[in-house]
Amino acid sequence: MNEVVYIGGFSGGIDSQAAARFMLNRYGAACVVLVNADAGGNEHPLTDEHIGWYSEHVQPVIRITAKIGDFRTDGWCEQKGLDPAATLTFPELARIKGRFPSRRAQFCTEALKLAPIRRWLEEHYPDGNYARFTGVRRDESLARSDRQWHEWDDFYDCELYNPVYDWTKQMCFDYVRAQGEQINPLYSLGFTRVGCAPCINSGKDDILNWATRFPEMIDKVRAWEQYVGRTFFAPCVPGMAVNWIDDVVAWAKTDHGGRQNNLFRILPPPACESRFGLCE
Ligand code: SF4
Repeated sequence: MNEVVYIGGFSGGIDSQAAARFMLNRYGAACVVLVNADAGGNEHPLTDEHIGWYSEHVQPVIRITAKIGDFRTDGWCEQKGLDPAATLTFPELARIKGRFPSRRAQFCTEALKLAPIRRWLEEHYPDGNYARFTGVRRDESLARSDRQWHEWDDFYDCELYNPVYDWTKQMCFDYVRAQGEQINPLYSLGFTRVGCAPCINSGKDDILNWATRFPEMIDKVRAWEQYVGRTFFAPCVPGMAVNWIDDVVAWAKTDHGGRQNNLFRILPPPACESRFGLCE
């Protein structure tokens, strides 16, 4: 029987990088396979570059692109005249679903990340002799607050380990930095979520930061909204039932309550404003 292979999801964010470091330290590079699903083209180029740096200097990361056939496998593509082998991009997924994903209907994770990686695993490890590792942490959200170190993964039908499940984000930064590894530069620019640019779960500060530092990410979302005919973000602006991206950016410039612009939120941000002590 073959040796068990340890599969780690590597998003370019600090949690998955800490989990990858844990795997490498515990099992050694030969047993560890790191994979990244590219989120349908919604990653920032700096995240892309960071994954490239990690691949070159620490451990190769296999890049996987979602296909339409990963999303629907029951003959649906053929019925709709779609090519199952075609790339599934973020806006194409939203067009097919008739809406963008949201916190309550977060289908982007399964369609763009989980399912393409499962297809890749079935192709490359048909014996199923692998265990999966994630960078899930309990304090990320209520939904994750009961996650354990060891679980069973129904989606991949394998053992699942969450080595940083009870760590704080700061502990992940400290652990990775102590190993001398580079960290995604978006953190030094003040972002707290770096998996997608933006993520459908991005908060007010991150949205403003994208708009201020990388307005081309807002232009991208605006073009996607026009293509799909729906808003990227679920309603989040108080008193506004429909919120297109420019409404959301305008709201992000305001104080709590959403009525008054806050000068300090509008002024250009400093070169480095990491909240995780990355600049000493
Ligand atoms: S990072 Fe956010 S937008 Fe991107 S796939 Fe995950 S939940 Fe969806």
